[in-house]
Amino acid sequence: MEEVVLERMASSSHSCFLCSDTNPDKAVSGLTIRYGDRFVGPPQRAHGGIAVGSLLCPARAAEGAPSWARFVSGRLRRPIPLNKDLQVEITMGSDLDVQVADEDGLAITGSVALSNEDLAPGASVQGVPDALCRDVEELAELVRGPLEGPSLISQSTAYQDKSGRSSTNGCYGCSEQSHALRHKMYRTAGPEIVSQFLPDPEHFDDQGRLDTAIIAAVTDCPNLWVLLAQHADMGAALQSEEGKIWITGTHSVHYLRVPERCDEYRVVTRILSQEGRKGFTLAVLFDLNGTPLAVAEAVSILIDVPPEMM
Ligand SMILES: [Zn+2]
Ligand SMILES: [Zn+2]
Repeated sequence: MEEVVLERMASSSHSCFLCSDTNPDKAVSGLTIRYGDRFVGPPQRAHGGIAVGSLLCPARAAEGAPSWARFVSGRLRRPIPLNKDLQVEITMGSDLDVQVADEDGLAITGSVALSNEDLAPGASVQGVPDALCRDVEELAELVRGPLEGPSLISQSTAYQDKSGRSSTNGCYGCSEQSHALRHKMYRTAGPEIVSQFLPDPEHFDDQGRLDTAIIAAVTDCPNLWVLLAQHADMGAALQSEEGKIWITGTHSVHYLRVPERCDEYRVVTRILSQEGRKGFTLAVLFDLNGTPLAVAEAVSILIDVPPEMM
């Protein structure tokens, strides 16, 4: 089976942000994935959104023919290591099963669905899933709202400093550091949060389409931050007194439209429900007109702070 997949990959013209030879942070080569330091999420671990988004790359290459993403879902089975080779196994079918593992066992399990044609920028991929229509309409109302007050990251840093347990956030998806996505999150008047994402030229392919893994990455962190934003202190006490943090468990992205090259996008995020240690949230990527481009459903898990984050 692996030989068939490799043969198809060899004849594929697929190229994306994660596998392009022009990307100095290239993470995917054939059936091998290696996340460099840039793609850090929690300390010393790979970013969950990039990890799930990276399932699309070998799947699109294995499909052979040019395609675009319809859906990707990935479950992070354990902390995803940085700077370590991980092996991909793909089971072909109408949906592709993708597993990522190293000698310590499975790291990510997921599935991918692709469009069976190459789609132009602006093309529709599919409608909003029925169960989410109302939420997406409501979240679209928040796209044009002002981005006000200190960002969630600066609020969080201030409270962490006050609690005396400041842990440096270097996250690729939300840290506001120079290696990270230019992505800033803000509170709204309600429980939702809204973020501004300013893409870099490298995030677009040669047809001017926003990269599918970047879409997965930019819709990941807000799912954790919307849970933290419920707390007036941005979860500082949750971490310092109860020793708990939220991490990404499962991240599933429905690609609705092929995003055209824009200077700016917005992500609006809300909590759908919360049961014990699980938070179910919805993050929607919009253009500035309020057109939904992708919807991401996430299950986040409240875990005990691992020692490396103390
Ligand atoms: Zn690729
Ligand atoms: Zn983050």
